[in-house]
Amino acid sequence: MTIPFNRPTTVGKETEYMQQALQNRHISGDGQFTKKAHTLLEESLGVPKVLLTTSCTHALEMSALLLDLKEGDEVIVPSFTFVSTINAFVLRNAKPVFADVRPDTLNIDESKLEALITPRTRAIVVVHYAGVGCEMDAILEIANRHGIPVVEDNAHGLFGKYKGKLLGTFGVMATQSFHETKNFTCGEGGALLINDPKYIEDAEILREKGTNRSRFFRGQVDKYTWVNVGSSYLPSDMLAAFLLAQLEEREQIQARRRQIWETYYTELGAWAEENHVSMPFVPAHCEQTYHMFYLLFPSLERRQAAIAHLKERGIQAVFHYLPLHLSPMGEKYGGKVGDCPVTEQISDQLLRLPFYTNMTEEEQMQVIEALKEFSM
Ligand SMILES: *Cc1c(COP(=O)(O)O)cnc(C)c1O
Repeated sequence: MTIPFNRPTTVGKETEYMQQALQNRHISGDGQFTKKAHTLLEESLGVPKVLLTTSCTHALEMSALLLDLKEGDEVIVPSFTFVSTINAFVLRNAKPVFADVRPDTLNIDESKLEALITPRTRAIVVVHYAGVGCEMDAILEIANRHGIPVVEDNAHGLFGKYKGKLLGTFGVMATQSFHETKNFTCGEGGALLINDPKYIEDAEILREKGTNRSRFFRGQVDKYTWVNVGSSYLPSDMLAAFLLAQLEEREQIQARRRQIWETYYTELGAWAEENHVSMPFVPAHCEQTYHMFYLLFPSLERRQAAIAHLKERGIQAVFHYLPLHLSPMGEKYGGKVGDCPVTEQISDQLLRLPFYTNMTEEEQMQVIEALKEFSM
């Protein structure tokens, strides 16, 4: 492929910071760079506590443990998402309850949420698809009325906003991903944002193998010991160093991604209209994160033909999530065709174009020209 779907973002200072971590002789977790990344995220987001983790999947697992999910508890989740969004809860023996998405933003359809709530519902997990905010006012109103905590899987949405408020600051917790396909990366990595302070101490213990080591390092106890269940969810300070270099350049990264997104949007507008292809929809009250650029084709057959057409020209375009309720695991929980009709339809129609921070203008024009040669 001459133009891949993704290339990891690089900004320049990553290796310098990693060298510094080595010179600090602290390459395990919670070193100087981890602390700097925590502070940067806490201050820029206004979140009381941020903890870097080894992945978004692990941050989701932490949230399932912190919410104390047990066998038979139900968790509402969009069917149109990555497996980890729900797998983390299923790992605690919770039962997934799949919600359909809105046909415009492809986010969880808040108008269908209430009908899915039962006395066993213990969490609602939302995903801000493509970094465009879910309808948080309506979702929180329903969740609060039923006393159900909301977790935001904000893997696409770091620094995005809904009605002027940052994504990741609505739920009791939110999770971030720094996988190489995301806007900011360290290869594999993530973060747990904790908005409800009552979870902070348990989260620190959980992330530090079930010990009160964090309190020990702050001098709040004179030795540390095993106080609860836990695991090891700390990334190496080498990875935090790599990540910090990118977080410090967040404005530059987002500005470049915005340019790429807007170029696709304006250059492909007329072609899309002629060919009955839908462009992404961003409500006026949402500030998106320019995480991806997708198109909705009229049918699966046309979408597949477009993938083949681009592939012949050395361009890698890809589809996205398959409906989780129709996966072998989803079927085990009773999922069947027709449960989430919008998800089933858009999953067949959606195509993501090559999109990465370091994409050149020539590369992007090549993609645009190739697509314009494709007609229905
Ligand atoms: C990427 C992604 C994840 C998983 O992130 P990892 O850091 O790879 O564990 C979870 N949810 C969504 C919506 C994602 O896009």
